[in-house]
Amino acid sequence: MPDTTAIYLDYNATTPVDPVVLQAMLPYFSDLFANASSRSHVMGRTIGEKIEASRRTVADFLGCETSEIVFTGGSTESINTAIKGVAAAYKSRGQHLITWDTEHKAVLDVCEKLAEAGFEITQLPVDREGLPDPVLYRNSLRKDTILTIMMLANNETGVINPVREISEICHEHNSLIFCDATQGPGKMQVNVNDLGVDLLCISAHKMYGPKGTGALFIRRKNPRVTLIPIIDGGGHENGLRSGTLNVPGIIGLAKACEIAASGYWENTSGISALRTLLEQQLTTNGIGYVNGSIKNRLPNTSNILFPGIKADQLLIKLPGLAVSTGSACSSALPEPSHVLKAMGRNNEEAFASVRFSLGKETTREQIAAAADMILQQLK
Ligand SMILES: *Cc1c(COP(=O)(O)O)cnc(C)c1O
Repeated sequence: MPDTTAIYLDYNATTPVDPVVLQAMLPYFSDLFANASSRSHVMGRTIGEKIEASRRTVADFLGCETSEIVFTGGSTESINTAIKGVAAAYKSRGQHLITWDTEHKAVLDVCEKLAEAGFEITQLPVDREGLPDPVLYRNSLRKDTILTIMMLANNETGVINPVREISEICHEHNSLIFCDATQGPGKMQVNVNDLGVDLLCISAHKMYGPKGTGALFIRRKNPRVTLIPIIDGGGHENGLRSGTLNVPGIIGLAKACEIAASGYWENTSGISALRTLLEQQLTTNGIGYVNGSIKNRLPNTSNILFPGIKADQLLIKLPGLAVSTGSACSSALPEPSHVLKAMGRNNEEAFASVRFSLGKETTREQIAAAADMILQQLK
């Protein structure tokens, strides 16, 4: 039996589907089931129109044109499409890409694949706060640099990158920049022109939408970005992502964008007040220390190092608390977080760190109870 009474503070891993989003999606599993590409009948054309309306909503949310949005199966797929697609399309111009040590594994793994295929990857360090050095970046740009990859906000620490500053330097060198903005929506503004990026991705399940749906922005003017698709087939999505459209997912993503735009200030201010409460409890008297920049941080995320503890063992004793540790256990042996390591933490410190990520449903009572549980164990 799943423990449904657990206090869930792992919203950066995934979010529940907002009830309003779910209601919007439901008809598209049953009555409105037709294929969005079926142009020969009204049922299909109706769905096609709903998809285009959703594309308008997502484009408005990101501040771009509808022709610049491609629906995908989430951010991992968008990241593969963007990076591999640009690499293949621009390889005659250059084969150098730049990214940072704290990027999501999806980005770092794709870059590793490209390196095996003969591309050259510069992976830049960050400082102890998790922030990049723009001067180091400027000095790393070359004539053959075709793409820079920088996340908007880090999923483990919540640290917000200076994407605007980096994109300006990138464009002085006539190069392209892709931004993994998966952690942004609902927690900070995400506007492709304010950020000055050429490609950008978001994922529905990180913003109270369904899993397995996302959007990739690809700039069509100044500059016009071209991609070689990685998924071939029926030519859906302008030939950039073949495959029958995930209609309920796309409807859900659009509704999630609408909600993120309208409830933004209310939610973020409330959540950041709760985070302050949590940190007051857990970081006084040297109990714990916040990992990463305090100033440039998402309002919902708190990554705390509790010196001398083992986070995974702490959490075994707290089955009623759903948070995440500073380790990635994608393999049998847990590995220390590459993000915390990049910020100068040693293995022991990385394994002693816990990520709390708050969401819309988080209450003051839950925060108080979570802090109590942890303080009890640390005694
Ligand atoms: C969750 C996440 C991803 C992966 O997104 P999926 O839609 O789950 O594939 C990529 N980057 C960041 C920053 C994330 O938080």
